Amino acid sequence: MRKLVKIMAAVAVVALLAASCGVVSFTGRKQMLLFSDSEIMALSDQSYSEFAKTAPVSSDAAATRMLKGVGEKMVYALESYLKSHGQSSALSGLKWEFMLVNSSEVNAFCMPSGKIVFYEGILKYADTPDYIAVVMGHEMAHAIAKHGNERMSQQSVMNLLGSAASEVIGAKKGAAAQSLFNLGFGIGSQAGVLLPYSRKHEYEADKIGMYIMDIAGYDVNAAPAFWEKMIEGKTSAKSDFFSTHPSDEKRIAALKEAIKTKPEL
Ligand SMILES: [Zn+2]
Repeated sequence: MRKLVKIMAAVAVVALLAASCGVVSFTGRKQMLLFSDSEIMALSDQSYSEFAKTAPVSSDAAATRMLKGVGEKMVYALESYLKSHGQSSALSGLKWEFMLVNSSEVNAFCMPSGKIVFYEGILKYADTPDYIAVVMGHEMAHAIAKHGNERMSQQSVMNLLGSAASEVIGAKKGAAAQSLFNLGFGIGSQAGVLLPYSRKHEYEADKIGMYIMDIAGYDVNAAPAFWEKMIEGKTSAKSDFFSTHPSDEKRIAALKEAIKTKPEL
């Protein structure tokens, strides 16, 4: 019986893989997406509203204005580009919003539904519109490349292979789906504490983020310069941008190479 379940699980995985291939905008990388955009958006919004309930909104009007100004300019450029290149599906369900949190923590993240959160602390490093555009582009890239969905999909295939198929299919519902989402997106049990994306996703977000900067008219050379600044300012805090986005020579070299080989967008 157990063997039969395993065979059924394997068949289900093959069927899911065949039916669920996505292509990442800008890089053309094929990815496995087992969840619909609407499922991801619903989970993402639920998680974000929990976060927003307790997060203190910044009272720094000038910084908030600068953040929103950069964000809106990048969204406009990105949406126009994707629409005119037949890649609107990358935008499916996204509702961009920008929030500045009153906290000295050096952090920023983007929910899969397009809610972008900056902490005041990161503005010490991202202190010009070009540097803000580096972080903003990187975070927007995680959303349009559907990295949360991909990670959740990988996690469910592992679950599927490791246990009975019925459990996993049932697990897509309710609280279990939320915990799978947390795994996929990375919000831990503490709101706002993010697990890092894989190195592959980080590098891809760097590259796509740099492309978005370019089409929005920002200086792409600010991207490697920003990560160099981050190396210098490294802290030992466990839950901040430094730990989820480890900056090193390799990351900076990959970004410089991407700038050198960047196509005309
Ligand atoms: Zn990232």
